[in-house]
Amino acid sequence: MKILGARGLVRSRFCPCYFGFKDGFRHIAVVGLGGNIGRSDKRFDKFIRVLLDDRRFHVVEVSPILVNAAFGYEDQADFSNAVINLQTSVSVYALLKILQRYELKFKRTRSFKNAPRTLDLDILYFGAKVLKSPKLTIPHPGVTTRMSVIVPMGLMRS
Ligand code: ADP
Ligand code: MG
Repeated sequence: MKILGARGLVRSRFCPCYFGFKDGFRHIAVVGLGGNIGRSDKRFDKFIRVLLDDRRFHVVEVSPILVNAAFGYEDQADFSNAVINLQTSVSVYALLKILQRYELKFKRTRSFKNAPRTLDLDILYFGAKVLKSPKLTIPHPGVTTRMSVIVPMGLMRS
């Protein structure tokens, strides 16, 4: 099957990796990683290393990286996307806050919608939760339409 805009799959130290499930966590969340500035593969690895050291989370699995054409605002570098399956006991709102702090740590700036970014962290799923508030839509609206989400998710075993 040919997928529109897909350039190919890239592997890095942690993309893909599989650690399996652990006891003692309340929720399973799927987090999407995106970026198109500099070496996204290295940045994803650095972020996953940080997550592995963060006791609020257990990384179950990380997908390979899909390199794909930018959408929305198209005159910019290709995007790299991967997804992480993780366990946590924090609430979905706490998770959003934590991820936004990590985006800042990785020098994410917001200039305009769909602008180039170093690291975009989206909550794709939070268990089977369905939520629509001004701050948070769960599942993320992109999960049913964006190849950048569907392809990496389809490559995970968990
Ligand atoms: P995008 O990811 O669409 O390119 P941003 O990363 O700048 O845009 O996010 C904009 C806002 O989207 C955030 O401030 C956040 O409150 C909101 N948002 C809504 N649903 C989600 C979600 N499932 N995961 C992450 N952010 C979300
Ligand atoms: Mg985002």
